[in-house]
Formats: sequence, structure tokens, C-alpha cells
Amino acid sequence: MLPEREAVIPVTDHGLLYGDGVFEGIRFYYRHPFRLVEHLQRLADSCKAIRLELPYTRAQLKKAANEIIAAFPEENGYLRLMVTRGSGPMGLDPAGCKEPSTILIATRLEMIHPELRGDGIHLIIASTRRLPADGVDPRIKSLNYLNHILARMEATQAGAHEAVLLNSQGRVTEGSAENLFIVRDGLLITPRPVDGALEGITRGVILQLTAELNIPTREAPLTAYDLYTADECFLSGTGAELIPVREVDGRVLQHCPGPVFSTLAKAFQEQISIECKPKEHSL
Ligand code: PMP
Repeated sequence: MLPEREAVIPVTDHGLLYGDGVFEGIRFYYRHPFRLVEHLQRLADSCKAIRLELPYTRAQLKKAANEIIAAFPEENGYLRLMVTRGSGPMGLDPAGCKEPSTILIATRLEMIHPELRGDGIHLIIASTRRLPADGVDPRIKSLNYLNHILARMEATQAGAHEAVLLNSQGRVTEGSAENLFIVRDGLLITPRPVDGALEGITRGVILQLTAELNIPTREAPLTAYDLYTADECFLSGTGAELIPVREVDGRVLQHCPGPVFSTLAKAFQEQISIECKPKEHSL
């Protein structure tokens, strides 16, 4: 464990040179990582998909996560876990990269402004598209975020808070770093991974909660029109948790925050308490 200034990697790391690597973003609450098992599973799957051998067992990664959380000055924060192809000769061929680099960072999370959380955010639909699912499978959480960054820059340029990326067929995929949900006539709908959505861990928690709460839910293709005419829309992610959307490309949505969002946001916070809060903190 090193202070930030001393934690350095070689300039020849293929994660830096080519974005050849995968990562996870994990929240911890009350010094307990939320859904760590799911994050480690997704990391292992991402590694498998890109033929990168995960150099540590899940038990070792779990131990490292708990150690860095114990050393962190605050009880809530964010972990960034990365595995890159490692250092090697120039050129795309990873054969010369003998040892993957595993990096674990603990940091404070820049929270969404509480006011925005209440009022809801403004989205734009970016002209930058998500990488096609037949190029890099969207379930691989790779270090290549350039098109997501360009989309986010478009949002900032337009005075909005976040951008939605469409796929090459014009279907809605997700936000630059969050999954997207809409509500229409009481039905909760989220795009399918095959259309370009990451299989978000928070998205998974929401799908679990909607099943428990008997909220009708479906994974289905969505277009810009579906967002413009939705009763409700919200984003989900490790960093974002759940954020309501007020406006999409200047169309003000019917409800913000809407009843389905409010039910799920409350249930999500309760889930965090159930899974992370030590018993002595309980009411
Ligand atoms: N989509 C993208 C592109 C992301 O980067 C993230 C954040 N990791 C998400 C969705 C949300 O996923 P999760 O709930 O696992 O954080």
C-alpha cells in the first residue's frame, strides 16, 4: 500500500499504451464493499473475455480490498480495481507482456450535488455512439472509455449534466457511466446488454428489487422517442447510485422524481444498509 504520489506504473504498461485492460468501480459503505462478489465476478468475466489471466484469486482481491478500506480515513468511499496487460514492448501484440498489473485505489467519491439528486438531471442524446456490441462486447468493462468521454464532453458543451449514448442502430444504450431506466404506463424498461448496455451491478440490484417489489420490469430496445415520452427516467451506477432525470434534449418528463424512482431509491438505500451497515448502527 502506497500513498498516491508513490504509486506509479511503467510508461510501457499496455493499459496506458492501448487501453488493454479491464476495471471495476466499487463503493464501500460503513467500511464494507457493496456487492464485492458481483464486482469480482464481472472482473473475472472481463479478464476471461480478453484472455487476460487474473493474477490473484478472488480471496486475495477481497483481502486486499478490505485492507485498503481499513486504511482509508473515512468509512465511505470508492475503490477502483484495475487489471492491465502489464508492461511490454511497443506494439499491439500482448505476448511480450509477461505480468499483468493489478492496481487497487481507494478514494473519496465526488458525489452528485444533493440538489441535483432531488431536482433531477438534464440529459442530452450524444452524437457520439457507443462502440458496437459486435466490436467489443459491452459486458467487458474495458479501459476504453474514449467515446463515453466524448459523449460526456458533448453534455457539458450543451449545458446538460449527462449524455446518453445510442448504438449504431439508434437504440439507447446507457449514460456515459450509468445504466438507464424509463417508466412508461407503470412498466420499468431498461436496454439489453445486446443493444450496448453494460451489465451494471447497480442495474442488477434494481432488477432484483423490482422482482421483490412486484414492479413490472422488462429489458427491451429503446429509442430516443421512448426517452422523450417516458413518464419517468433515471440512471443507475456505482458512483451515481440512482439519479432521477428531469429533462432529455429539452423535453421535460412527466414526473421527476417519479413514484417508481422514489420507491426504488428508498429500497436501494435500505439494501445498502442491510448488506453493509454493522448491526450496532441499526435503528
Ligand atoms: N455503464 C457504464 C459504461 C459504466 O461505466 C458504469 C459504471 N461502472 C455503469 C454503466 C454502471 O455500472 P455499475 O452499476 O456496475 O457501476
